[in-house]
Amino acid sequence: MTAEECVFCKIIRGELPSWKVVENDFAIGILDTNPTAEGHCLIIPKRHVRYWHDLNDAETAAVFNTAKTVAKQIKKAFKPDFVCVFIRGGRVKHAHIVLFPSQEGDKLSGFPQSILGTAEINFDDVRMKIISAG
Ligand SMILES: [Zn+2]
Repeated sequence: MTAEECVFCKIIRGELPSWKVVENDFAIGILDTNPTAEGHCLIIPKRHVRYWHDLNDAETAAVFNTAKTVAKQIKKAFKPDFVCVFIRGGRVKHAHIVLFPSQEGDKLSGFPQSILGTAEINFDDVRMKIISAG
């Protein structure tokens, strides 16, 4: 998916409407159009990047600081027990931080194991593969 076709890039360029809650040099924050709760927001880097770990250091800091600021605003405005973060970039192939207001005991409790289960792994092997990939 190119930046020309990307829904988030179209929103950033002002070609599609959104409910924007914040904008700075590196990111915008908008309400999710399919919210799970009041305050469910997306923090989207302005540069078209699929994977969040491909953001440069300045973008990473700015995008995560924007997410933190909006999370505090959500917490103050709607009083959820938590403001959770999820980042994947699967449905829309442009990295975005999802901010989920969450309550103690809701379906996000215990996530991701509550949804994905627990894998049986060799901890020493997995640890060494991660370290060796650095
Ligand atoms: Zn994009």
